[in-house]
Amino acid sequence: MRYRPALLLAALPVMAAGQRQQSATSGAASITAADIQRRIGIIAADSMLGRATPSPQLDAVATYIAGEFRRFGLKPGGDSGTYLQRFPLEVLRFDPESSTIGITSRTPTTWRVGHDVLLVEGQAPSVATTAPAAVVTGSPDAAGSALDSASVTGKVVFVAYGPALNAIAVKLLPLKPLAVVLVAGFPDSIWEKLPGREASVTVRNPSEGGGAAVPAVLAVRTATANALFAQGGASPDSLRAWADKPLAARPLSDVTMRLDVHQRMLDHASAPNVVGVLEGSDPALKSEYVLFTAHMDHIGTPSAGEGCTARGADSICNGADDDGSGTVAVVELAEAFSLLRDRPKRSLVFMTVSGEERGLWGSGYWADHPTVPLANVVADLNSDMVGRNSKDTVAVIGREHSNLGTTLDSVAAAHRELGIKPVGDLWPQEGLFFRSDHFNFAKKGVPILFFTTGLHPDYHQVSDSPDKIDTEKEARFARLVFYMGLAVANSAQRPRWKPESYKQIVGGSSTN
Ligand SMILES: [Zn+2]
Repeated sequence: MRYRPALLLAALPVMAAGQRQQSATSGAASITAADIQRRIGIIAADSMLGRATPSPQLDAVATYIAGEFRRFGLKPGGDSGTYLQRFPLEVLRFDPESSTIGITSRTPTTWRVGHDVLLVEGQAPSVATTAPAAVVTGSPDAAGSALDSASVTGKVVFVAYGPALNAIAVKLLPLKPLAVVLVAGFPDSIWEKLPGREASVTVRNPSEGGGAAVPAVLAVRTATANALFAQGGASPDSLRAWADKPLAARPLSDVTMRLDVHQRMLDHASAPNVVGVLEGSDPALKSEYVLFTAHMDHIGTPSAGEGCTARGADSICNGADDDGSGTVAVVELAEAFSLLRDRPKRSLVFMTVSGEERGLWGSGYWADHPTVPLANVVADLNSDMVGRNSKDTVAVIGREHSNLGTTLDSVAAAHRELGIKPVGDLWPQEGLFFRSDHFNFAKKGVPILFFTTGLHPDYHQVSDSPDKIDTEKEARFARLVFYMGLAVANSAQRPRWKPESYKQIVGGSSTN
């Protein structure tokens, strides 16, 4: 070890006084590729097992981020003076060995759940329940399409798996069928990959949709279903034969089904959001907030039931880009802003949420239980998958819905040295506006921008690993968000919705 007292003495005053002496430029410069690489290495390490919701590894990541927020001097923005806000979850265990569906018809049969029929989603009734069966026919696009509750509520409803499924589900699920059975013509190779074959754990969010559970969603092969339809007086092809007719539910006469699915409550659990606040410097504007978000959870390993599939010996979906990259960007932004000599006028909220991959749960919970007044949140800048693809662009989803888009353009024009060009949605067919956490804030009237460098072949694969992140690009991207956040936090006016967008996304008309 070398001892260099002269240098140490020279450095001392800077170290002592330097923590909050930074200009905006050097605040931005604190965001480095090396820091991003190091932090993604921590969050997306194999030891984090892909950060499923809930898991001890997800909690470990939350603890790490909370520790960083504390080190930066942020105020705790979670529950009861801590950096964490926890939201409740229910963990259910499904046991296929003892689960059956008994069918009463001309020739009574029994389907084994996990073999003849798979429980792919949702919650089965907690006690064995018998109900009539119905088949949904027709097309949701045909004129006069509607389903009446008398023909589906409390029944076991068969629906063709196909392109119209989502449109049918929107009409069917609010009518509370007992169960939905998807009739699927999958080849064996796909059928073998569907969930619901083995004993597994499912996680439910009791806060979602006012506590309404998704009914049991089962899948059955076309041939198996057709045999039953024939007994119930429906043509084997009835799902398809009516494709040009309005949507309708037809009873399968003399068929009743007894669902005896063993899916028991194992545990009440919870998952974390991490929230840190940097108070604004303006006596009036500091009661308004700019929100920076990303999701720290990912899809775990195959047993988490979130869609991670092993490839060879690798069974860990690291989620380095999705969304280790955005999470680390939020942490880097928190550090950069905390170093500023002149704090921004508005307050800043840095939040990393969980449960995103299961259905935007953490952000939804915070939007329903905000830890700062939601009406005072002037913007959400959300980053999800920001470390890949072209060197010099970032897609900005939702930029057309408020004047945040034009603010961003002028910020980017003033910082051409970053070499990042904000562009619009490069994947319009993907519906990305609905697929990350900003959506929960937009629905409640918060103007948003959603930053993403987009999809790639490693998306939700074990190969979304830290070595693939372009940390140099991500550092330049995060600096752009830093300058953008600064502009929004210091602007005299809060961001404004486009009236048409507000009407469409939030409903009613905008007050600001
Ligand atoms: Zn994802």
